[in-house]
Amino acid sequence: MTLAVSILLISAVLAFVLLVRPGAIPPNETLSPTAHLDERKEAIYENLRDLNFEYRLGKLSDADYEKTKLGLQNELAKVTDEIESIVGKRARPAPAAATAVQPAPKTEAAKPVYKCPACGALFERPMKFCGECAAPMGEAQS
Ligand SMILES: [Zn+2]
Repeated sequence: MTLAVSILLISAVLAFVLLVRPGAIPPNETLSPTAHLDERKEAIYENLRDLNFEYRLGKLSDADYEKTKLGLQNELAKVTDEIESIVGKRARPAPAAATAVQPAPKTEAAKPVYKCPACGALFERPMKFCGECAAPMGEAQS
């Protein structure tokens, strides 16, 4: 009798934990509006690194390599644009700093150029990894 009751109780608790909990977990968006885009960006960098690695091993033809690389770089540009538009929208409503006498913040100054230390490729945006050779790049290098 008491055993049956405990089993029933345990089942009820298990059902509660299994059924109710997943719905209670907040969506990723609450962490960062760009979290899913950042993940995609990381995945693309990962693919670029893999691509370069396989190319160096001679697993890919020049044509396949160029085609895949261009596709990944386009994808990267799209994701970066999306992130920038989200981040830009959030940054805009800051009223106090906009009228300050200080010079414009670095990000809005004349187009900075980010240079890959490994292959010398130039980019208009800061990148964690070079879009050409996938070498690590400093975020704020110019
Ligand atoms: Zn590079």
